[in-house]
Amino acid sequence: MSKVALITGATRGIGKEIALTLSKQGYAIALNYRKEGEELDQIKEEIQKNQVECFAIKGDVSKFEDCEQFVTQTIEKFGKIDVLVNNAGITKDMLLMRMKKEDFEQVIDVNLIGTFNVTKNVVSHMLKARSGRIINISSVVGVMGNAGQTNYAASKAGIIGFTKSLAKEVASRGILVNAVAPGFIQTSMTEILKEEVKEEIAKNIPLKRMGKPQDVANVVKFLVSEDSSYITGQVIAIDGGMLM
Ligand code: NAP
Repeated sequence: MSKVALITGATRGIGKEIALTLSKQGYAIALNYRKEGEELDQIKEEIQKNQVECFAIKGDVSKFEDCEQFVTQTIEKFGKIDVLVNNAGITKDMLLMRMKKEDFEQVIDVNLIGTFNVTKNVVSHMLKARSGRIINISSVVGVMGNAGQTNYAASKAGIIGFTKSLAKEVASRGILVNAVAPGFIQTSMTEILKEEVKEEIAKNIPLKRMGKPQDVANVVKFLVSEDSSYITGQVIAIDGGMLM
């Protein structure tokens, strides 16, 4: 039986690349999505080309009942979850002066509470199996802060605290929990930035370029592999040197 990876928000961007990369490693993929459409059909097709199963499961990570349901469906389908990647995330950028309470809450609900909702439902199965890998997608912004992103930075900093605390709780049961902190990665999340803003960002990155989803997927591939079996509770920056 092949290993099983559940990846949230995996229809595009970083989540899609992680799903594709792990499918190339032979993982059966439980792919969580929110919206149906072309992107979903395309990723399912691409994963199946790697001769592994792809089980697409709808659900909003900010809703606990949705997560309960899609984790149960994954267990019914595959009998286990070896790897969980909490990737689903949103931004709602604006200065605090203009930010409404709902703008703050929405980002926390998806990014941080979503991570709790999925992990809470998955970890009981990993505890029974006495093994598992959990990778949470944080951000450099959660470490450095960023003007216009108080909501997003708070959610991503929260994910770091969550990661370290859970790593301590479950280490003795063979479950490793780590976070990655990407810098600026070329996806639809950063596409909305104006060209001149992107150029300015790239200028300030020591490696002088924005990252690609594959740069993140490569580190996730390492963190789920046997080569990283002595690493837990860490936050690995994937940012071209922004954070040092
Ligand atoms: P993206 O292209 O906007 O993709 C985000 C994915 O999350 C989409 O598939 C989206 O699905 C899904 N999603 C959003 N809300 C959801 C919800 N409530 N329930 C389930 N799925 C939901 O963004 P990305 O750049 O790939 O970002 C992926 C992760 O990396 C996020 O956690 C983000 O914060 C983090 N990150 C990104 C960067 C960057 O520069 N791009 C940097 C640091 C960290 P729908 O299409 O259905 O909304």
